[in-house]
Amino acid sequence: MNKDIEIINIKALSDNYIWLLRNHSKKLTAVIDPAEAEPVEKILLKNNWELNQIINTHHHYDHTNGNLKLMEKYNAVLIAPKLEQDKIQNINHLVQDGDIIDIAGLPAKIIHTPGHTLGHIIYYLHNEKILFAGDTIFSLGCGRVFEGSMQDMYLSLEKIKELDPKTTIYCGHEYTESNLNFSLKVDPNNNELLIFADKILTQKLKGMPTIPTILKDEMNCNPFLRSDNPEIAENIGNSKMSPQEIFRNLREMKDNF
Ligand code: ZN
Ligand code: FE
Repeated sequence: MNKDIEIINIKALSDNYIWLLRNHSKKLTAVIDPAEAEPVEKILLKNNWELNQIINTHHHYDHTNGNLKLMEKYNAVLIAPKLEQDKIQNINHLVQDGDIIDIAGLPAKIIHTPGHTLGHIIYYLHNEKILFAGDTIFSLGCGRVFEGSMQDMYLSLEKIKELDPKTTIYCGHEYTESNLNFSLKVDPNNNELLIFADKILTQKLKGMPTIPTILKDEMNCNPFLRSDNPEIAENIGNSKMSPQEIFRNLREMKDNF
């Protein structure tokens, strides 16, 4: 990664990750999905940084609850999805699919990824190959489909699959261990997954976060990106289903896992 850029992982609530993006050369700081204000303020204070931008991927409480407090204290600009403007208060800059904005001085493309919520967006820093993915994709998993359709979520993940495989993914939750158990169940003979599992279990043992994750690893191991894989289809019992149907089955199985 560009050494001018630092991304700090801030744990919040029970299993959320808030991401703090600092551009050292431009002295700009952005926070992504502040579930809470206090832990963010603590890091800003410690480093003597101002906060310039607050970025939301979707309207859920565990991604936006720190917005107002941080806006008031730092006079930061709130950037959020236009399609969720009725559900997020005090937005300064509405963004939608295809827009290019600057996050902490770095160009980022907005990609609409409905499914988890209808207006969910992700932020792709294409020069740095950094993705702030909210609750669309997790390591070895994907978000629950609350507002959109299964087909929406399937197509949203297809959009992520088109990004550079070297992309580093910063998602909103640490769900990796449970996702790993599920992945091993539906894709037990996947060698790449077994190797990835070792890495995850080592990180867990050391009390380290398993996020960020790399898109290439997810393409090889995350069953929700592999619904076109004949072995997975076989393992969940129907090799004649379309990738979309396999995806729906996987998502429903995981909801009850
Ligand atoms: Zn959410
Ligand atoms: Fe969430």
